[in-house]
Amino acid sequence: MKNYQELIEDIYLDLKKVDDIGKVANYIPELALVDPNNFGASITTINNENFGVGDFSKKFSIQSVTKILSLTLAYKLEGEKLWERVDVEPSGKPFNSLLQLEADFGKPRNPFINAGAIVVCDVLFSHLKNPKKDFLNFCKEISNNDTLNYNKKIADSEKSAGFRNIALCNFIKSFGNIKNSVGEVLDFYFHICSLEMTCKELSEIFLYLTEDHFITKKGNTVITESQTKRINAIMLTCGFYDESGEFAFRVGLPGKSGVGGGIIAIHPNKYCIAVWSPKLNKKGNSYKGMLFLERFTSKTTSSIF
Ligand code: GLU
Repeated sequence: MKNYQELIEDIYLDLKKVDDIGKVANYIPELALVDPNNFGASITTINNENFGVGDFSKKFSIQSVTKILSLTLAYKLEGEKLWERVDVEPSGKPFNSLLQLEADFGKPRNPFINAGAIVVCDVLFSHLKNPKKDFLNFCKEISNNDTLNYNKKIADSEKSAGFRNIALCNFIKSFGNIKNSVGEVLDFYFHICSLEMTCKELSEIFLYLTEDHFITKKGNTVITESQTKRINAIMLTCGFYDESGEFAFRVGLPGKSGVGGGIIAIHPNKYCIAVWSPKLNKKGNSYKGMLFLERFTSKTTSSIF
């Protein structure tokens, strides 16, 4: 078998020729300005070897990929009580749907749809003294990367057009499942979605999900073995909106996408891979990103199944 570097270069060059039928997300005005031709991928192994191709060292807005990080911190702080506030079932609905919340009395189906991620932000808001700063510090510690930051322009842009999220948060609050101020929780949510990373940084920060006992450079445990298993399980079943089944079917790894066009996927005990291509398919997942990962796990015959 070719090595990872050769493999990702082959896949990249092949996919460069493929016509991209996706569309860049434009419901957040600032995201619509991104060059749609950006395309890159990076893989980091558990031994910290890194391989990259294309635009793998350009920063972009990770959007919903951040929901893994917020879930991790909330689970760490709140423990099993977290599941009283948010469920762990695939929703089978678009990421920003309001539909199920009424029937489910304001308890979101999972932490990766917007409703669930907003509740997770509320949980964090109750625990953290300075939520935006503390969340960022958590991300910096687990990645050993001090350069991470929010993109205020993108956060403000989403705030100015985030009508569905504003509706979701108010609706959940009416059921008592948001404890803090709607405005403050949403401001926090928009900021964590605006976090910027490169593919390389993404493939490094999520290494903690590839191992049972990941220890940060500062010597701290991130989460327990059981929590690692559970977060991977939720990624596999709920990480791609109402296309989670399709991603598991085609790629066979736990992962998470974002409307910025980024996707990360975890191969337990092997690697974390990140890919970025801003044009999204109809379900909101990166069109070429999914193709890239499908080819990668096929060529390496390495999936969790
Ligand atoms: N900030 C985005 C929103 O709430 C995230 C969506 C996503 O990446 O799935 O709409």
